[in-house]
Amino acid sequence: MYTRELTRIDPIPYNYSGIGYTFPPISVNYKFREEAQVLNVIAVAEEEGIFNTTFHDRIYLCTNCHTGFMSFREVCPKCASSNSESQDIIHHFRCGYVAPLSDYSNAIDDQMNCPKCNKQLRHIGVDYDKPSVLHSCRNCGHKYQDFVVKAKCVSCSFDNEVDQLVYHEVKSLEITKKGELVATHGYVSTSKDLEEIIGTVKMDVFRTMLRYEIERLKQTEGHSNIAGVFISNAGEFYSKIGSSMERALLKDLVEVIRGNIRTSDMITFKDSSTLLLSMNDIPQKVGENIMEEIVQLILKLLNTNFPNLNIQIKYAVKQVHAKLNHELQIQQLLQQVYTDVQS
Ligand SMILES: [Zn+2]
Ligand SMILES: [Zn+2]
Ligand SMILES: [Zn+2]
Repeated sequence: MYTRELTRIDPIPYNYSGIGYTFPPISVNYKFREEAQVLNVIAVAEEEGIFNTTFHDRIYLCTNCHTGFMSFREVCPKCASSNSESQDIIHHFRCGYVAPLSDYSNAIDDQMNCPKCNKQLRHIGVDYDKPSVLHSCRNCGHKYQDFVVKAKCVSCSFDNEVDQLVYHEVKSLEITKKGELVATHGYVSTSKDLEEIIGTVKMDVFRTMLRYEIERLKQTEGHSNIAGVFISNAGEFYSKIGSSMERALLKDLVEVIRGNIRTSDMITFKDSSTLLLSMNDIPQKVGENIMEEIVQLILKLLNTNFPNLNIQIKYAVKQVHAKLNHELQIQQLLQQVYTDVQS
């Protein structure tokens, strides 16, 4: 975005966007049904201080599929059918009788006669008024005065209760100074860059190896662990040191870890701020001690190279469970890493 010299993005109303608005350079990456995610991405970027935002509009999205095209209809409060007819309620001033229009009409002419006092009703405002409307449901026969409004989703057909629709704010975005820095010196966030760092394996390989390890643990008595290291202020940190320095730093980081684990253990980048590694065939306690040492070494390395930048590192070690799915265990570890403040 920054590279195209855009510093401001205004949402544009757009038929072919799932949420009814498009953010030109951002939305192109999303499919119709996934476009609500654009709002999440913007929210995260705003939190990170990449954008300043101003309110533009409010939208309501389907509670089932999160798209924004809905048909609002008045429906029967009893059976939710939109198949209904409506007629005026007539109030005859002279005798006070109140009934739907059909009670005053006849089949022969268009005169209105009061069924109670038999007098003819001529002038609205003089003889009678119409205080309300009566609706009759053609589906269930229910008669009612107050409609319920429902919003049927055009994409998935789910009929939403209007008061349960979740609203989202659509905002105009302006890139901040920090955002410009991230865009120009940026994160090494492409997975290709990360994969090229020697001593690491791809995330897929890591997953597969963990699956094998789980199978192996079912047969043996051993203990194995997975561990995660997370640089919690990576965005800020990387934007200050620039991308070539960032790459060099990540290489050093991998080297430090490599030097403290076995050759058979694996290291992978989940993203440019999170590293995962395996520590097979050692008790969790030992794994924790090793990780603590590794983190101290990393901090020492960083504080020597960037004495003025305060890097924050979180980590966790989790014993591999022989009965749980590998993906679940990775998620549990990440959750621990992201929430635990250990250093
Ligand atoms: Zn829907
Ligand atoms: Zn009357
Ligand atoms: Zn009905």
